[in-house]
Amino acid sequence: MNKTVKRIVVILIILILLPAAFLTINEIISLNQNEEVIGRIYSNQLDAILYSVNQYSEDVVSSWASRLDLFIDEVQNIEEEKILAAVDSFRNQFPSLYNIFIADSVGDKHIELLGFDKKKNRNSIFQTKMDSLVNHVLTTNRTLVEKLFSYSQSGYRKIEPVKLGTPANRGYFLLFIEQTKLGKKRIAGMFIEPQQFTYRILSPKIQEIAQKEFVISVFNRAENFQFNSSRDFKVSEVQQSKTLWIFPDYQIGISLVGQTIEDLVQQRAITNILLIGLLTVVLLIGVWIVYRNIKKEVELAQIKSDFVSNVSHELRTPLSLISMFAETLEMDRVKTEGKKKEYYSIISQEANRLSKIVNSILNFSKMEAGKRQYNFVESYLNDVAENVYHSYKFHLEQKGFTFNILKDETIPIIKIDEEAVSEAIVNLVDNAVKYSDNNKAILIRTGMENNYAFVEVEDKGIGIPEKDQKKIFDKFFRVSSGNVHNVKGSGLGLSIVKHIIEAHKGKIELFSEVNKGSKFRLLFPLGKN
Ligand code: ADP
Repeated sequence: MNKTVKRIVVILIILILLPAAFLTINEIISLNQNEEVIGRIYSNQLDAILYSVNQYSEDVVSSWASRLDLFIDEVQNIEEEKILAAVDSFRNQFPSLYNIFIADSVGDKHIELLGFDKKKNRNSIFQTKMDSLVNHVLTTNRTLVEKLFSYSQSGYRKIEPVKLGTPANRGYFLLFIEQTKLGKKRIAGMFIEPQQFTYRILSPKIQEIAQKEFVISVFNRAENFQFNSSRDFKVSEVQQSKTLWIFPDYQIGISLVGQTIEDLVQQRAITNILLIGLLTVVLLIGVWIVYRNIKKEVELAQIKSDFVSNVSHELRTPLSLISMFAETLEMDRVKTEGKKKEYYSIISQEANRLSKIVNSILNFSKMEAGKRQYNFVESYLNDVAENVYHSYKFHLEQKGFTFNILKDETIPIIKIDEEAVSEAIVNLVDNAVKYSDNNKAILIRTGMENNYAFVEVEDKGIGIPEKDQKKIFDKFFRVSSGNVHNVKGSGLGLSIVKHIIEAHKGKIELFSEVNKGSKFRLLFPLGKN
């Protein structure tokens, strides 16, 4: 590999591949951690939703407690006959509240019951008998009551649930401190049945929060109770749950509709891995393309600089020969006429060679600029080949070549640019001469193949390695093995041939074997052009 290309590969690796590999590995390692973090974030979000349901139920009961304060203040000033009606109307506002009691302290003899239990008809507020149940609740929760009083002393009302497990009264007393405007503090309790509370109070709120994304459930496995915001949901599917603050043996649960958090997190991880993979592939392809392009450019730059030195060399040789022989003639150093003639012919030969080189460079630059014009006329390919043969025959035989032509006389007239085709054949013959070693035999042959007429030039020279056979038609390309360094050339000849053949919509076929020889066949379509 060329030094410059090597340097570029190193730069590409350091600048792009190493950081990318580092990033990718880092990304994959941190994927696991990310998964955990995301899982936690999801679960925190679900917790926040459960928290809001809890908060809502507490707000509800605490608003009931405040209403009770107001009501008690109100009934202080009402005449006794109207109290019953007031109690009734207050009671009707709280359908899931079954009973309320108010007592001065634990062990109070005058417990006031705001009896909501219609069947038992305990409606009177001021003169009801002490209910043994309430008394039991208060005495068994004496410390709790004291705590509530002390909270209230510091201006803070807390509501605490106490569970009732008797078969007749299943539910919770929510205890709190009731306070009149005048500042009198008493212990109060609301009896609430959790399942009714769930259906009547929580259900609308839960539906509103859950919408279509979640299922929110309230359940108590011991009592085999469950309420779900969505039908056909089983409590066993609940993904995350919390205790309901106001009814501690009830749970609220939440689940994502359709997927679990693990599913979501895994999906994200898979998407991320796929993206990272895709990115890596794109990056690798990009680096490869950059590498290929740079390599090509570097090679072309190299080839161009070779071209300049080759061409200068090619120009210099005939020039120095011409000037040397001209000087010799000028100084009258040549005595015999024969020798003089020989020198004149060398000068004219070298001048010819010079003009050929200059012409091929000019032709080439015209082609490169897309400016070369072709003049297609109906012609005999045999005639064009024969003309080249005749103009080279003498010259080549002088150089020790056997030079022959074999024509297929059946080739019809085809439309070609005679000058260009002749130039192509000349280029092939030139190469055959240049790249022949000891076996100096060149053959021009014409013929037909499928729908093509062809002319081919065959030599017994050094041949072309298989790997280079495609490249030799590229501009400036010269095979780097064999005798090429002894043979002068610009690397333009075959690219000019290729251009000419393409202009004729024809093809070039090459048969070549190293050390055995080469055959270049130029094919021209019959009758179509
Ligand atoms: P050049 O000026 O170098 O001859 P060409 O474009 O004519 O440029 O040829 C490109 C290369 O192909 C040559 O440098 C030579 O290596 C190889 N080549 C062309 N013709 C022959 C041939 N007849 N035998 C062996 N090698 C050939």
